[in-house]
Amino acid sequence: MREIVVAGAGMAGLHAAESLRDAGFDGRITLVGDEHHQPYSRPPLSKEVLTGGGSAKSVLLREESEVAALDLETRLDTRVAGLRPREGAVLLDDGTTLGYDGLIVATGARARRPDTELAGVHVLRNLADAQAVREAFDSVQRVVVVGAGFIGAEVAASARAVGLEVTLLDAAPAPLTRAVDPRVGGVLAELHRDNGVDLRLGVGVEAFDGAERVERVRLSDGTAVPAQLVVAGLGAEPNTAWLAGSGVRLSAHDGGVVCDARCATSVPGVYAAGDLAEWPHPRYGGRMRLEHWTNAGEQADVAARNLLTGEGTQREYTPVPYFWSDQYGMKIQVLGQAAPADTVEVVHGSVEKRKFVAFFGRAGRLVGILGLRSTPRTMRYRPLLERETSWDEALREAGSQDQ
Ligand SMILES: Cc1cc2nc3c(=O)[nH]c(=O)nc-3n(C[C@H](O)[C@H](O)[C@H](O)COP(=O)(O)OP(=O)(O)OC[C@H]3O[C@@H](n4cnc5c(N)ncnc54)[C@H](O)[C@@H]3O)c2cc1C
Repeated sequence: MREIVVAGAGMAGLHAAESLRDAGFDGRITLVGDEHHQPYSRPPLSKEVLTGGGSAKSVLLREESEVAALDLETRLDTRVAGLRPREGAVLLDDGTTLGYDGLIVATGARARRPDTELAGVHVLRNLADAQAVREAFDSVQRVVVVGAGFIGAEVAASARAVGLEVTLLDAAPAPLTRAVDPRVGGVLAELHRDNGVDLRLGVGVEAFDGAERVERVRLSDGTAVPAQLVVAGLGAEPNTAWLAGSGVRLSAHDGGVVCDARCATSVPGVYAAGDLAEWPHPRYGGRMRLEHWTNAGEQADVAARNLLTGEGTQREYTPVPYFWSDQYGMKIQVLGQAAPADTVEVVHGSVEKRKFVAFFGRAGRLVGILGLRSTPRTMRYRPLLERETSWDEALREAGSQDQ
């Protein structure tokens, strides 16, 4: 193998390139990204960048010299537009093609946009989005955040940190309902209210009103909220349109790239990683697609190494899913799955004190751990999720930590 193309210059793309070099690949690696920047980290966009402490330079994932040492052909401001596996070619938007022996698909996901053309309505996915929202923060008093998932919640917290009046809306009855069981998720609702956010749950958005700029958000309960700025956190959609017709199988459900347990797509020599890749995870049953920073790096590493090695020596990708969020100076960390579960038990601290570790169980085994302001304790339990751990054994382990 002499020519590898990495499509997408984000977290997964950079890690794939690094792992290829780390594994000894000395052929040409072409990293293609449609943004203007060297690979950067998205988590600070909704945190430090919005509160004024982050810049285009501080969010970069690597120093210039570290990227240079990888000896990559980097094509920024360039979009991959198609894939022709039979010719071993990736088509670029400038009309040229890149030949490849191996391809890593890492074009990530984009923010779902609300249905309006009005000025003053933003999403938050890339650096340009974050800079635009940050700039808008300086000239408005009132912001409405639509969607109380992690990004919406962080935008609300950042807007409060810079002194704006914030309304946070979600059609669900609690924030973060997709990711966190409401029995502990409720504490996150209180966190917003205590910090002065007008949190409205169980209401959908009917329409955005205004002449040219947004002036108010009309809600499904018949009320309206005045808005000078709207930030929508409505989830993300995989960037996979360029793969249409290539033979790379896409999920009918959400357009993610369907991979096997080794991150291989349905087309030989084409692997995928990061926000767009879905794969079967033996410990959780069914297929998984994670939009988490740590996953993008870990999955890219496995995809890159598997691309280089023969069938017999390929590794399965069986991570402990992990993500974190920072809101109002508090760190929330989730290992495994904390989505609505059969059993939830707070094993350290208390929800009332907003400092705790909770275990989540299903079918008699531990499936997830959530920690609030409890980083070392939370991370210490990670090994319990790396193997099958029964619910009783997990509780015993937590009990022994208290002694
Ligand atoms: C505001 C924000 C805050 C976040 N905070 C957290 C957090 O606190 N904790 C956490 O765990 N996760 C967080 N995440 C999620 C995390 O950042 C993502 O999971 C991670 O960035 C995924 O990496 P990726 O490389 O798969 O995709 P991306 O980071 O999306 O990178 C893909 C790259 O490919 C480019 N691209 C797309 N289409 C094409 C094309 N056709 N041709 C060329 N290039 C293309 C994209 O522009 C992008 O540069 C956050 C995400 C956002 C947006």
